[in-house]
Amino acid sequence: MRLKQIKLAGFKSFVDVTKIPFEQQLSAIIGPNGCGKSNIIDAVRWVLGESSAKNLRGDSMTDVIFNGSSVRRPVSVAGVELVFDNSLGRLAGQYASYQEISVKRQVSRDGDSFYFLNGQKCRRKDITDLFMGTGLGPRSYAIIEQGTISRLIESRPQDLRVFIEEAAGISRYKERRKETENR
Ligand code: ATP
Ligand code: MG
Repeated sequence: MRLKQIKLAGFKSFVDVTKIPFEQQLSAIIGPNGCGKSNIIDAVRWVLGESSAKNLRGDSMTDVIFNGSSVRRPVSVAGVELVFDNSLGRLAGQYASYQEISVKRQVSRDGDSFYFLNGQKCRRKDITDLFMGTGLGPRSYAIIEQGTISRLIESRPQDLRVFIEEAAGISRYKERRKETENR
């Protein structure tokens, strides 16, 4: 599945609506220090369900909302939408036949967080379930940061296994089994 577009509004330094299209097979984001490159990666992880403020380089979950600058007042809502190309039908279930999948998350200053799948309000779990086993997810191998490779090399066999199971696409079934057993 290819990420086609990211749309940000009120998210970290992206206060105005910003659309970033990824039309080519290979895209690179370049720019001077502090221009917002890592904020874009944070946005992807956030939409896919990241629930740790620390992993988004903040102290609280509302730190992702634009908090003002010398020339702009803070805003009250942050929203990010990811549009994936699903023309290869990689997603299982009811979304398999959709050419495009839109995943959106919004948060307001009071901490209320909402998720949307193709425009329909949904739970965080609907998003994580949908992408489980595709390699996408807030902490999956789709996002490789500084230090990820060495962490992988040095990880314990049981942690390494989690990565391999995600790559093999079986983590979704293991999760289902765990849910059933806990019922
Ligand atoms: P580097 O090349 O140093 O890694 P970068 O391009 O990755 O830089 P980011 O870390 O993405 O830069 O962006 C940092 C900028 O985002 C800082 O100027 C910071 O003030 C701004 N920023 C982060 N959170 C917010 C927020 N909630 N509101 C406004 N600005 C924010
Ligand atoms: Mg950076």
